[in-house]
Amino acid sequence: MSLRGEKRTEFPQSVRKKAFARCCQQAPEGVDNIPGVPQCEGCGVQLSPRTGIIYEHDQPDGLGGEPTLENCKVHCKNCADIKTHTEDNPRMRKADAVLKATYGLRPAKRQQIKSRGFQPAERQHRASSPVNKWRGF
Ligand SMILES: [Zn+2]
Repeated sequence: MSLRGEKRTEFPQSVRKKAFARCCQQAPEGVDNIPGVPQCEGCGVQLSPRTGIIYEHDQPDGLGGEPTLENCKVHCKNCADIKTHTEDNPRMRKADAVLKATYGLRPAKRQQIKSRGFQPAERQHRASSPVNKWRGF
């Protein structure tokens, strides 16, 4: 659940099917397409259970990204992780910070607890006398 009270929306099966077909027919720029083979739309790696296959929101769900075919990217686990950590999370943090600052959603200020401090030592009139180590011998 986001700050705005929305629940995450996953892609419907129909969208995932179309996105899967798309990633089988075209590879990203600079990568040769292998017809009929699903390829990551980020790096072009052949998708398999080993690489993972993730249907990702291009525009993040929490920032109003719709669960449509246009907003669906088929990525390997690696590309999905990179996008999540380098793009989506910083954008979400920034958006949340702006929202909190704008709508008074910052945490309430805690009251400072003040200690009584230490009792001041009694005033000393002279330096302490050296201890007579030999006393008693
Ligand atoms: Zn990839």
